[in-house]
Amino acid sequence: MRESFYKHNFKMIPKKDIRALTKDEIREFFVENGDKAFRGNQVYEWLWSKNAHSFDDMTNISKETRKILQTNFVINHIKVDNIQRSSDGTVKNAVKLHDGLIVESVLIPTESRTTACVSSQVGCSLDCLFCATARLKKMRNLNPDEIYDQVAAINQESLLYFNHKLSNIVFMGMGEPLMNYKNVLLSIEKITSPEGLGMSPKRITVSTSGVPKMIKKLADDGVKFNLAVSLHSAIEEVRNRIMPFSKAFPLEDLREAIKYWYDKTGSRVTYEYVVWDGINDDREAINALVKFCKYVPCKVNLIEYNPIDDGEFQQAKSQAIEDYISILEMNDIVINVRRSRGKDIDAACGQLANKKS
Ligand code: SAH
Repeated sequence: MRESFYKHNFKMIPKKDIRALTKDEIREFFVENGDKAFRGNQVYEWLWSKNAHSFDDMTNISKETRKILQTNFVINHIKVDNIQRSSDGTVKNAVKLHDGLIVESVLIPTESRTTACVSSQVGCSLDCLFCATARLKKMRNLNPDEIYDQVAAINQESLLYFNHKLSNIVFMGMGEPLMNYKNVLLSIEKITSPEGLGMSPKRITVSTSGVPKMIKKLADDGVKFNLAVSLHSAIEEVRNRIMPFSKAFPLEDLREAIKYWYDKTGSRVTYEYVVWDGINDDREAINALVKFCKYVPCKVNLIEYNPIDDGEFQQAKSQAIEDYISILEMNDIVINVRRSRGKDIDAACGQLANKKS
């Protein structure tokens, strides 16, 4: 009787993820348990700079202490579940989270650098018609440690495959980073701290589909990383059609937020832009982009379209791309043309949708 009472009524309190604790909180835990605060520093180092997956990895911590940790906490480390390698060297990780959900992150090697492209949410709540991730329902935000772990995993792969550390990070994987603002910033804090990966914020770019209020908040918070905005069209009706959520964020508000960012940070925003056949490949579209670019100093990245189906979106003809390049250059606008990478394994921009080929 008694046994079944417990079976049915005893609620298990889930153990706390130790990586949600600050260093001071871990130090306090040890002091409260009659140990030295210094033990907290050692554990913190294992958790972050040494990337420990379990308490048993912490070899300079006594067995007894590890047991206490195990009784009180868990380490919800991500698990790289599946790795795909593209013929161009790009590596895509399918990452399993502690609750079984999956996100993807990508390692993009070039001659001069290796870049990690990481996810900030499981799925996405936005509805860009040309993006495969938009078709996945947003399940939840990623925690700071889940974002950090993706970067740490890619750093290890970079060392393994290319013999050097990760050089850049772009928040251009699944999700809208500015709709998971707090956790994205906490993850960057960890990535840039000496106790984490010690990376310079100048090597990190956060990409947003354009949430004016949050762009202003970034500026107010004095962040030091780079900002990219997925523009794709500087004509309101066109942008509203291909990125329907943007009806709530008029271009004028976006422009004003970007000016606010530039005035406060002095850092140029990069506009990401895909040119599609019959959608934004005419003179009117180019002129609108030129005008938009003149408000605030900026850079433009022309991204190749990565087809996600045979629908209405097709890469524009090369003449249209040439027109964009020459007219933007004529107007002294900095423009880069980005070749897509990892297309054969669905790892390129906008293709992340948990597909295994
Ligand atoms: N939500 C953020 C982060 C995702 S970044 C944002 O929109 O910026 C992904 C980048 O790839 C964005 O610039 C997005 O507009 C672009 N993209 C989406 N689908 C694409 C596709 N099929 N081909 C090329 N680029 C795509």
